[in-house]
Amino acid sequence: MNNKKVSFKIVLGIFLLLSIFFMNESNGQETVEGLHFATGKPVQVTIQDGKILKVKSIEKLSVENKNLIIAPGLIDIQINGYMGVDFAGPDLTLDGLHKATRELWANGVTTFLPTVITNSHDRLIKSFTVLAQTLDDPEIRNSIPGFHLEGPYISPVQGYRGAHLEKYIRKPDWNEFLELQKVAHNGIKLITLAPEIEGAIAFTHKCVKSGVVVSLGHHNGSAEEITEAVDAGASLCTHLGNGCANMINRHHNPIWPQLSDDRLSISIIADGYHLTKEEVRSFYKAKGVARTILISDALDLAGLPPGEYVRGERKVLLTQHVVKFPAENVLAGAASPVSVGVGNIMKFTQCSLENAIQMACTNPAKILGLNDRGKLKPGLRADLILFTLDDFKVNIKKTYVKGELVFEKQK
Ligand SMILES: [Zn+2]
Repeated sequence: MNNKKVSFKIVLGIFLLLSIFFMNESNGQETVEGLHFATGKPVQVTIQDGKILKVKSIEKLSVENKNLIIAPGLIDIQINGYMGVDFAGPDLTLDGLHKATRELWANGVTTFLPTVITNSHDRLIKSFTVLAQTLDDPEIRNSIPGFHLEGPYISPVQGYRGAHLEKYIRKPDWNEFLELQKVAHNGIKLITLAPEIEGAIAFTHKCVKSGVVVSLGHHNGSAEEITEAVDAGASLCTHLGNGCANMINRHHNPIWPQLSDDRLSISIIADGYHLTKEEVRSFYKAKGVARTILISDALDLAGLPPGEYVRGERKVLLTQHVVKFPAENVLAGAASPVSVGVGNIMKFTQCSLENAIQMACTNPAKILGLNDRGKLKPGLRADLILFTLDDFKVNIKKTYVKGELVFEKQK
């Protein structure tokens, strides 16, 4: 064989391989079946190029899928860590973030905002420097659209500051925030602050103008201060009913003005411990399905065995369901993934699964402006979960992120 023939064959070979590759890509459809979360009727969802191509009614599901419900993936806008990986911890690595993301996929979470709470400037810089790597990481970037900064511009008053360390709480500082945004590669999408502290309103204006969602939390704002913050563009209340003192004035407290302003959505921890079922029910009645968002607020200890742990500079106690500071008997955070809230809100309010999914998928996507996900709708990303609902407990069987199967429960 002469050289010309050899090179012709090589070129032909490469051409054929490329053709097969592109044919597979363009025809690379996959179908997933389940009971539609809203209608309860069997549907077949066709996935192509990471998106939902169509959602079609079918006669019935195959025997192996017969009880599986299909819904959009869960979106958790406040989560501090998972399975021992602390998103704000000094030992955080990209590997740790991979591990936590995989564990969250197994719990049906397809999008989340790693959340960093009040800390020193240097510590925050370090946290966001590591977190920023996720935004370009091919394996997990599709699940992490950005981050939530909870603090450090919150109330220093005991009760309202909750688990945040007083020594690091400070007044809003736009220059500091810009520095954090820079190391975070502009990934801070949501900030929780207190409206009553000096400079908070002007800071809120700037955040909203720069595309950051401002949420009111860990505060003791008056009705006027809350209204001013909402006028400035604040649109959310962080874990309403928590991050609040135990003893409050029955008329003048931060809860009523936040509940009564229709411009504010609320996030709630419906783990069954952070709020009573009556609070969940009342908040839900006041805000309705459209303005309620479920969050986990899970700490890194979530998923680990109960016991005493040391976190940062403090000792904490992990019970079956929550994390506490044993000395003050204050809740430090939750230990249940947001899927637990989906079942609980149905149980506490008698809302439908359709409503619960809206509060855990559609609403969080909407508040963050993530228009490509949060619904089971053609054209949107194929972020899907398949699960059973047994006695208000969501049991995840399969999770897809952008059309890729990232979790499948072993039988
Ligand atoms: Zn908090």
